Amino acid sequence: MIDMQKEIFLSNARFLELARQQKKSEGVLGLAALPRLEEALRELGVSNERILAEVSVAYGLQGLPARYFGEVQLPMLSLTVHTSLPLVCQRCFTPMPQAVDARFEYAICDEPPEALLEDDEIDWLEPGEFSLESLVEDELLMALPISVMHEEACGELQKTAGEKPNPFAVLKNLKLADK
Ligand SMILES: [Zn+2]
Repeated sequence: MIDMQKEIFLSNARFLELARQQKKSEGVLGLAALPRLEEALRELGVSNERILAEVSVAYGLQGLPARYFGEVQLPMLSLTVHTSLPLVCQRCFTPMPQAVDARFEYAICDEPPEALLEDDEIDWLEPGEFSLESLVEDELLMALPISVMHEEACGELQKTAGEKPNPFAVLKNLKLADK
């Protein structure tokens, strides 16, 4: 518990440093670092361990010039997230990977000024309440479609039906074998 607190604290120091110095931090996270996302994927029927192990989320955190919201100037960050979530059709369970390619902007503050609350483009982050992993996870969970499904009919089901041996074809093959 103490270690976790320390880690979150260090992350915040890094975020503020990134924002103030307008630096960039890039990396890749696997599901081991994103347990809530893994749980959500499993709940959506993604059960293939190899596929889950291969999920990787590329992120880029970039400090932006501080911006005024009314009278208040706040440190700014942007986050980009690129991944392909291995979702499955909720009807036939064949893979339907969903690409996520998103960018978010945040102002860092304890109390968001009115002008920031009115800004639809920019979210706010309270220092002391987030880590990079939980931020990426929150955004991906919000981007996650509740249900993906083949639009018309499920291809896999049709294919399976078509692959059933046709009794006449079987007879034909037997006849050919006899010759
Ligand atoms: Zn389907």
